[in-house]
Amino acid sequence: MPTSTPSSRLRPIPAFDRIGEENAFAVLARATELAGQGRDIVNLGIGQPDFSTPAHIVEAAVKALRDGHHGYTPSTGIAPLREAVAADVHRRFGAEIDPGKVVIVPGGKVTMFSAILMFGEPGADILYPDPGFPIYRSMIEFTGARPVPVPIREANGFAFSAEETLALITPATRLIILNSPANPTGGVTPKEEVDRLVAGLAAHPQVAILSDEIYDQFLFDGEKHATLLAYPEIRDRLILLNGWSKTYAMTGWRMGWSLWPDGLFEAMRKLAVNAWSCVNAPAQYGALAALQGPQDCVADMLAEFDARRHLVVKGLNALPGVSCAVPKGAFYAFPNVAGTGWTSAKKLASALLEEAGVATIGGPDFGVHGEGYIRLSYANSAANISRALERMGNFLSEARAA
Ligand code: PLP
Repeated sequence: MPTSTPSSRLRPIPAFDRIGEENAFAVLARATELAGQGRDIVNLGIGQPDFSTPAHIVEAAVKALRDGHHGYTPSTGIAPLREAVAADVHRRFGAEIDPGKVVIVPGGKVTMFSAILMFGEPGADILYPDPGFPIYRSMIEFTGARPVPVPIREANGFAFSAEETLALITPATRLIILNSPANPTGGVTPKEEVDRLVAGLAAHPQVAILSDEIYDQFLFDGEKHATLLAYPEIRDRLILLNGWSKTYAMTGWRMGWSLWPDGLFEAMRKLAVNAWSCVNAPAQYGALAALQGPQDCVADMLAEFDARRHLVVKGLNALPGVSCAVPKGAFYAFPNVAGTGWTSAKKLASALLEEAGVATIGGPDFGVHGEGYIRLSYANSAANISRALERMGNFLSEARAA
């Protein structure tokens, strides 16, 4: 008879008690469970385009499989893809980057995971946006570094403030995480603010910068993306995070890329060798077709998102106790729900799901400064968005706040 060890005696190292998660996945699971019970749920929770990956990208990946691309690739990615990333960056921003310092990674998250691992240790401070993508804080805590939230304020158009960010830097600060266009707020930081931040960073040469630009094409109202790649003076300490997930509706493909400064590239290459060897080969060929093929699929998707953005903002502002600033980027609305009488935005989000059948995410899931807000992803059809808004209106008019 095999002896079994009681599973309760197995424990990972304590760092795993500090690791967080993304509540959007828990909400997705609950929404799916409710739908499985026959409930009609409108899901405005998860942050992924509701479009299919464009056909020419799918075909390129299928062809790669048929052509025999079944083996390992270089751990930093296939050369043509790294070159195509550099060409794309040049086309869009006029910035020169060395394809030899680009690393193809399995999804945007892997870049933040790796960068935070490189700088996080007890005694180090890492600054991150709050509200912001929840994995930043989770990973910082995992490493034992001190998470230092940089408040992202509605009064500032949900842009980050250079002044506030710089004021939080101490001799212990090792890394600053920036994100524009931003999740969960849809905020876009103007170039003048980025200029001020970069100028101020000259006084703090020990600080590295991780710029999460995964929504860089999701801009509306004529906004231009202020990429951190435009500043040669910080190139030696800039890690750039980007990828295909959002722009080409490829979240399930797990395709991202990052740019690393000379001093960090080798560490990243070795991490890749140790952790994932290389990214799925046919997916890399799909990503290559995405960058080299026609870009009208991106423009079409953006036009659709823009129409929905207007719909969702107008509808939210008509709800009792709700006010919603116009998001300039990404595909999220982050309405202020403080006037609804619900003092806990998480409880409101949960009640909206359970009672009204609308999945959203409570603002505090993105950090303490998210209290008083909920996040709606408008990556859903106009008809579903209208249904969700109607249900939310009925719910807020009838339900008593908890
Ligand atoms: N960065 C931000 C700000 C995001 O919102 C997301 C996904 O939602 C990611 C990174 C991760 O993207 P990926 O799915 O490519 O890992």
